Amino acid sequence: MMWGYLNPVKIIFGEGCISDIEKHLDTDRVLLVTDKMLAHSEILSRVEDALKNMDIVLFDKVQPNPSSYIVNACGKLAKDNNIEIILGVGGGSSIDTAKASAIVASTGIPIEEFLSGDRKIDTPCVPVLAIPTTSGTGSEVTPIAVITDEEKNKKQPIVSQYLFPKVAIVDPELTYSMPPEIAASTGMDALSHGIEGYWSKNSIPITDAFAIACVERVLRYLERSVRNRNDRNARREMSLASLLGGLTFAIPKTAAVHACSFPLTHRFGIPHGTACGLTLVAFIKFNYRIVQEKMNYLIRCTGYDSLEKFCEDISMLQRNIGLPCKLSAYGIKKEDIEILVEESFHPNILNNPREVTKRDLFEIYSEIL
Ligand code: ZN
Repeated sequence: MMWGYLNPVKIIFGEGCISDIEKHLDTDRVLLVTDKMLAHSEILSRVEDALKNMDIVLFDKVQPNPSSYIVNACGKLAKDNNIEIILGVGGGSSIDTAKASAIVASTGIPIEEFLSGDRKIDTPCVPVLAIPTTSGTGSEVTPIAVITDEEKNKKQPIVSQYLFPKVAIVDPELTYSMPPEIAASTGMDALSHGIEGYWSKNSIPITDAFAIACVERVLRYLERSVRNRNDRNARREMSLASLLGGLTFAIPKTAAVHACSFPLTHRFGIPHGTACGLTLVAFIKFNYRIVQEKMNYLIRCTGYDSLEKFCEDISMLQRNIGLPCKLSAYGIKKEDIEILVEESFHPNILNNPREVTKRDLFEIYSEIL
């Protein structure tokens, strides 16, 4: 087996590291990309304080599941202001908007052309500095941005080596104000990144090591982090779990759980991490036969002695952090399953260790209805 590994993102981790942000900037032509709520929060004041010597341009129109329109507007703002570095501050949506708008700012071409796959990114983009305020996305260390193409009404990832952020500043203090429901959903995303990167057909031993460290932390700290935002130890460990999850799937990419999450989010508005959590246990059972030895190793490393107990505890964790395990809790009906099956055949499904047929998906969705 031959493999290579490269993750060019400089990672700065630790409580209070946001104060040193200026050290990582070699220009003062900075665009700060975030959402309306964060723009009026203490987090943004802290970022702005750390950048007080700079003249920053602010873009605060990021929305959940960022649309191509927003990305194009943000990219145009960067281009018009000759921006030399884009700071994405927030959850995955802000960081992905920052990454995708860097393509638009650098090329002057609307993002839809890259989303359709018609065009490849062939030159470096405006550098991005990623500052996560949730713990799940891992986008701060991946070469991926997930954007919704408004015209085609479809959520699509863009993948390019030029999308790796230049620097990831992971300051757990920025997650202290994260509400329980966001901590819960993003935490399930981190768990899904760990498990999916681990069983992806493209996984390699280095990313496997990240996966084990990620999954172990989520199982140990997620519930504590959701229940008590003042549990700083748990919040730090979840920031680290999220980072490790990003490092896990950045190269091998995710698989069937993420492929299914796209229509669940796009059609039914289920938050990304929650959507991943809905099919996670079903796919652990579905894939087990094919990756038995490897999964047994993960199960043992995370302190379990059987697949059943491992799955049971993940389902219990979901319930304990307030996330339903059934599709019906989100108003999904039997007659919706067909469209879900149809729209789950996203390219990520090809990374799944066991081939997934329409019939398999129909059974999995029916089982969790
Ligand atoms: Zn994800």
